[in-house]
Amino acid sequence: MMDCQNQKNNLANCNCSYNPCSRKGICCECIAYHRKNGELPACFFTSNAEKTYDRSIANFIKSRNAK
Ligand code: SF4
Repeated sequence: MMDCQNQKNNLANCNCSYNPCSRKGICCECIAYHRKNGELPACFFTSNAEKTYDRSIANFIKSRNAK
């Protein structure tokens, strides 16, 4: 895990509620992890959709269309 100079500032804008994650606030690692899995990071999701921890693109589209 690399040191991130911006981690504290990033955390101020991070909506991810999955607290055990070691990538919180280290956005480059967060994005790379989810991209590798064909997913999107928490900050793309609405608050309710984020809490499902389903970071799939299908869930992103579903949550954005369910208004
Ligand atoms: S979106 Fe995923 S990788 Fe990023 S902090 Fe949350 S659980 Fe971790």
